[in-house]
Amino acid sequence: MTALLDVVDLHVSYGRVEAVRGVSLTMEAGRIVTVIGPNGAGKTTLLAALMGLLPSRGSVFHDGADMARLEVEDRVERGICLVPEARELFGDMSVADNLLLGAYRFRRERGFRSKLDDVYARFPRLADRRRQTAGTLSGGERQMLALGRALMMRPRLLMLDEPSLGLAPLIVREIFRIIAGLRELGVSILLVEQNARAALESADYAYVLETGEIGMHGPAAVLLHDARVTATYLGGSV
Ligand code: ATP
Repeated sequence: MTALLDVVDLHVSYGRVEAVRGVSLTMEAGRIVTVIGPNGAGKTTLLAALMGLLPSRGSVFHDGADMARLEVEDRVERGICLVPEARELFGDMSVADNLLLGAYRFRRERGFRSKLDDVYARFPRLADRRRQTAGTLSGGERQMLALGRALMMRPRLLMLDEPSLGLAPLIVREIFRIIAGLRELGVSILLVEQNARAALESADYAYVLETGEIGMHGPAAVLLHDARVTATYLGGSV
């Protein structure tokens, strides 16, 4: 079976500093794969390189196709979508307009508007606030809007950079429930997180990234109970 994403010996440097040092990982379609690791481990850099935003060495195959020569636009066209840490919403625009912008390239297609209804059905809080400007939303609602906008792009591979960042624990739980629920849409998710427990509880498979290298990997449920992962990333308690 061809993997949805196959990364082989990827290297990414900022000048002389190598932030990603020979990372290899594989994702099967329909799965949630998480990359956990501390501050500065290279998680954001890895996602930026996979999106084509940073030059890299090594190979990345999407659905068996070599992505080496693909620009960001080509990767978007293949259904690869990145929700960055900063969410990058249009603060002065309404929730509805932010969502519609996500689907701009489908605007002439039939069913364009019904996509919006699908997102509102999944995120009732966004439906209630459709005319409110994005800049006035709470942190959790902003993350929902970023996820909703990404879904408007009909992604096949959704890459999420620290969706829990800056959110209260209860909201983190809600966001991760939503992320786990995206599986039923057939969306594959590559989830980068510092919140190791929440990520491991939601994911199927996990990689631990430490100073640019994969330290260990395995089924998320196994890593959740691994002594070293527990001691280093889960505050010592299983
Ligand atoms: P965090 O969770 O804090 O965002 P991270 O795991 O996402 O961390 P990266 O942001 O990918 O880590 O950073 C990896 C390394 O690359 C760090 O040492 C960082 O200082 C360095 N780095 C990141 N961006 C740049 C840049 N634009 N120029 C130079 N070095 C950078």
